[in-house]
Amino acid sequence: MRKKIVAGNWKMNMDYNEGISLAKSINDELHSTPLSGKEVILCTPFIHLQGVSSLLSSKGLSSGAQNCNDHKSGAYTGEISATMIKSTGASYVIIGHSERRTIYKEDDSLLSSKTIEALRNELKVIFCCGEVLAEREQKIHFDVVKKQLESGIFGLTEEDFANIVIAYEPVWAIGTGVTATPDQAQEMHKYIRSLVEKRYGKECADDTTILYGGSCKASNANELFANPDVDGGLIGGASLVKDEFINIIKAL
Ligand code: PEP
Repeated sequence: MRKKIVAGNWKMNMDYNEGISLAKSINDELHSTPLSGKEVILCTPFIHLQGVSSLLSSKGLSSGAQNCNDHKSGAYTGEISATMIKSTGASYVIIGHSERRTIYKEDDSLLSSKTIEALRNELKVIFCCGEVLAEREQKIHFDVVKKQLESGIFGLTEEDFANIVIAYEPVWAIGTGVTATPDQAQEMHKYIRSLVEKRYGKECADDTTILYGGSCKASNANELFANPDVDGGLIGGASLVKDEFINIIKAL
């Protein structure tokens, strides 16, 4: 049975104290409203990770990073390795977010190396894919997502693939206030699951968690999560506001 997940991507927001305070309030809230088999992940900036990881005590609540380097260690000034992330108590890392692909020019081959390095350190990977608006308008969005998955994660063994969560994030919906319709999300999620089935078999496809990301908020989470192939969300802006984030979790 695949897991239902809501993951918050804090991006480069909040100073240390603000982040700790938000994580504490989410942790407290989830003590009084337990997750019952679902999972919530707080993907924080690197500097928050140790502090957030050590305060989380609610069942099903864990932490993650938003990026990692593809090397084990060495002369990579300013970079953070998967080993370092793991040592903070974090369980997850986001790889392939569109902001990393676009702003930092991270290509498929680098993202594949990062994924392998994260898995080698026993981190689970939230691997992001998604098309830009022009690609959807040209009706090549399925091909774009297929290529991202084939280059990024379909080279993994089945054993490693079990530690992958896929996040479909149409780039035109990220931070724009424009959300994919429930039908658009379901159509792509179903397609992604069919690709996983072709590569790894039906059992693995049924067990793979596929999250939707892109302007998901409390007011639209219900209709998105109601789709059979949408197993939760990767939430940006709305994960910075406690009540909004908690209501998205409740929608799950
Ligand atoms: C994201 O950055 O992963 C994201 C989904 O952002 P937002 O929810 O703000 O669109």
